[in-house]
Amino acid sequence: MSTVVFPTDPEEIQARINAIDPQAYARTRNFLTGAVTRLSPYLSRGVINLADLKDRILSDYPFRKAEKLIQELAWREYYQRVWQARGTAIFSDLKQLQSDVAHQQVPIALSEAATQIEAIDQAINDLYTTGYMHNHCRMYCAMLACNIAHAHWSAPASWMYYHLLDGDLASNSLSWQWVAGSFSSKKYIANQDNINTYTGSKQVYSYLAVDYVRLQHLPTPDVLKSSAPFLLKTILPPSEDPLVVENAPLFVYNSYQIDPQWHAQEKGNRVLLLERDHFERFPVSSLVLNFIIELARKQVPDIRIFCGSFDELTSRKGFTDIYYKEHPLSTHYRGRKEERSWMFPEISGYYPSFFSYWKKCERYL
Ligand SMILES: Cc1cc2nc3c(=O)[nH]c(=O)nc-3n(C[C@H](O)[C@H](O)[C@H](O)COP(=O)(O)OP(=O)(O)OC[C@H]3O[C@@H](n4cnc5c(N)ncnc54)[C@H](O)[C@@H]3O)c2cc1C
Repeated sequence: MSTVVFPTDPEEIQARINAIDPQAYARTRNFLTGAVTRLSPYLSRGVINLADLKDRILSDYPFRKAEKLIQELAWREYYQRVWQARGTAIFSDLKQLQSDVAHQQVPIALSEAATQIEAIDQAINDLYTTGYMHNHCRMYCAMLACNIAHAHWSAPASWMYYHLLDGDLASNSLSWQWVAGSFSSKKYIANQDNINTYTGSKQVYSYLAVDYVRLQHLPTPDVLKSSAPFLLKTILPPSEDPLVVENAPLFVYNSYQIDPQWHAQEKGNRVLLLERDHFERFPVSSLVLNFIIELARKQVPDIRIFCGSFDELTSRKGFTDIYYKEHPLSTHYRGRKEERSWMFPEISGYYPSFFSYWKKCERYL
């Protein structure tokens, strides 16, 4: 079982940043035991921002040594830009319809960690206990669900998002679509040899132990045939009174915006807003919810938890101004909107492929 844990103390998160080794990262990131950063839960939640992280890495290493890691960070920003430009379109097939779809449900073998592919079952069990899955295993799960079991990507993506501490709707939907071929030019598949190479498993017999020509035309294995709808829910905690300081501003945080530096020196009311509608549409597990709340409490002193709508929160009397940060999920907020920080603020809008986007980014490096 994996021993990965995700601390919420500022010092421990800083130690994780100090431990980054971009050269080892570039060599080993595709392997389960590789030197990946495991920073995604903090990046997704806005505790660390990409621009600061990029500057920090480039102050310690020349670009040529850090290029791969910077490029991976740019994938996150790219997906955020696609979301910003295309809005809710990212929750449907974005470039073309996923082909060869048999149903819109979650393969039960996936949710029960019983796919008979040992490394994948192990990765799913680890996801349930730690809230984390290595990128390559996420790709394997997605290809198994979409390209071997022929599920549409949407329900299994919701299942994975539900369990991820780093759950990010753009990275998640668009990565699933990238694997399923609705946001890429071809579907991603991997055979047993590939899985063994990168995960260290030694499984010899399995329905994936075939060459790539046969794999492309594999009939759905019996074990992957049963499926069920995605029905999981989030149970939100009771709200706390958001008013701590009368006649002072309200700073609105949410599950993607837990920036400890934001207006940190100013007097005000700080509220982690958990909107019911949002969690009904995009549920997360109690492990994820508790992580978000603990992170907010550790990073932002005196923060209050409010579960309800933005309008319910702001109908409370006693606030002067209301501040929030720009994000596709906060378009209905009202008040003083502030920009997010970007690694490449100059490059916005929709780029149909990461590499067309990255080409532009390189000019600023
Ligand atoms: C099917 C699928 C679903 C995914 N769902 C999510 C999700 O909900 N939330 C999420 O944050 N990431 C998601 N990813 C992207 C990626 O798997 C994770 O960001 C990465 O595994 C996080 O672990 P890490 O911090 O150790 O990554 P590292 O390899 O150390 O990378 C450093 C950082 O670069 C960024 N990054 C690296 N790879 C990617 C990538 N492929 N796409 C986007 N950003 C990347 C992340 O911010 C990551 O924290 C998904 C990928 C796939 C294939």
